[in-house]
Amino acid sequence: MGAEPALFAPSWLTYPQQPAHLLRSIWMPSFKRAESGELTVDGTPVSALVEEFQTPAYVFSEDTFRARATEFRSAFETAFAAHGAEVSVYYAGKSFLTTAVAKWAEDEGLYLDTASGGELALAQRAGVPGERIALHGNNKSVAEIRRALDYGVGRIVADSVPEVQIIASIAAEMGLVAPVMLRVTPGVHASTHDFIATAHEDQKFGQSMAAGTAPLAGLTVVELNELGITAEDAYATVAVALAHRSESIDLRGLHCHIGSQIFEADGFGAAAQKVLTYMQQLNERFGFVLPEIDLGGGYGIGYTEQDAPRGSAEIATELADMVSKTCANVGMAIPHLSFEPGRSISGPSGITLYTVGTIKNVAIEDENGDTRVRRYVSVDGGMSDNPRPVLYESDYAVTLANREPAGEQILSRVVGKHCESGDIVIRYCYLPADLAAGDILAVPGTGAYNHVMSSNYNYLTRPPVIATSGAKAPRAIVRRETEEDMLARDLGLV
Ligand SMILES: *Cc1c(COP(=O)(O)O)cnc(C)c1O
Repeated sequence: MGAEPALFAPSWLTYPQQPAHLLRSIWMPSFKRAESGELTVDGTPVSALVEEFQTPAYVFSEDTFRARATEFRSAFETAFAAHGAEVSVYYAGKSFLTTAVAKWAEDEGLYLDTASGGELALAQRAGVPGERIALHGNNKSVAEIRRALDYGVGRIVADSVPEVQIIASIAAEMGLVAPVMLRVTPGVHASTHDFIATAHEDQKFGQSMAAGTAPLAGLTVVELNELGITAEDAYATVAVALAHRSESIDLRGLHCHIGSQIFEADGFGAAAQKVLTYMQQLNERFGFVLPEIDLGGGYGIGYTEQDAPRGSAEIATELADMVSKTCANVGMAIPHLSFEPGRSISGPSGITLYTVGTIKNVAIEDENGDTRVRRYVSVDGGMSDNPRPVLYESDYAVTLANREPAGEQILSRVVGKHCESGDIVIRYCYLPADLAAGDILAVPGTGAYNHVMSSNYNYLTRPPVIATSGAKAPRAIVRRETEEDMLARDLGLV
């Protein structure tokens, strides 16, 4: 991402003067070093976790997850209450979801976002009530929509005109009224990796609010006329008119989500301003009052020392001020607000433990033609348990976990065991010179978009998820995949 990475070390990576120190922008308070220098998670030393559960393993702090869920919920509630507005906070389940996690989120007063029939099935198995669930996705199948309506989900977020039509017809056929939000594209390009920015115009999510895009909706001129839509209108206005006219849709409001791993406040504020302004135009035009707006998630977390994540209170206060100002400017009462943090709750709650295997020094030539050495440290997982470095060139930090990382530190690259040279876990980091096979490494910030994106590439079995809490002994909430599990779908010579 951005500038060409440095051959040896990027400018943001500093030589650790105190290698045992855990930066609190990356490591939550559940992660501490014991007197011995060993890393502990909610009081349990990693050596005990490794002895019981082996590596690679995701270790997920229930205490941190619950604390962050409550912290985000109350930050948004408090900030908006100051303006007399009400808020629902949804946990974006796609970032990390197991039945236990779904229950923890519910316990902490959060609603749950799902993005597929499978995520919905998991929420159902966890016993999350339908009215506390929203269904997202840009290509929901008929079966997914039917399942959502059958289970009585609280919101279906429609992403296109054809989807509004399909939801309306399935709901009518089932004799139900579907509670629908319409996802719009505010045309804001968030400063994050292109693959996780979702509000600029040229991508698959949402419906354009830009004037003149109505003809793209695929309706005939006669159909548009019947809806009172002209060629100057926006694509999203077509969806609004269709949903408004349908007796099987209860149009609740608008939704936008500008992307993920975003640090700057401006993007969120600009998007909120655009969507609220458009919403007021709709209210005037259609003579209704859309009661809700969902402003999505996307709050960035600390992965490495270069990240400075903002606190939930700061984010919530800025957004509340912006929303209240915009509503006052356009002459609209503040609607009910929803937010959908995912990564910012789950990400910092989880780490991955790996065992060091082969260590290899590789001679490389620098820009002056001089030979230098790069140390490659191989671990027992890689792109199958964390595909983010391959997908987004994501940077991670790492620390030696089973003992104190003392003495000289050497610039290293931590790599996985897959048959790809791009299978990098940490591109640049410092690790102790005396690092040896059998040492345990801990990678922070892997609670989001790791377990849920894991694969069986090279037929590696997927790691377990070990939950920790100060109140309970560590336990697996997802067990390690066995070779039996992995091979079960191979039907042989049929
Ligand atoms: C992914 C997603 C989120 C959560 O994003 P984070 O970056 O994990 O906070 C919220 N809402 C929608 C619609 C999403 O697709």
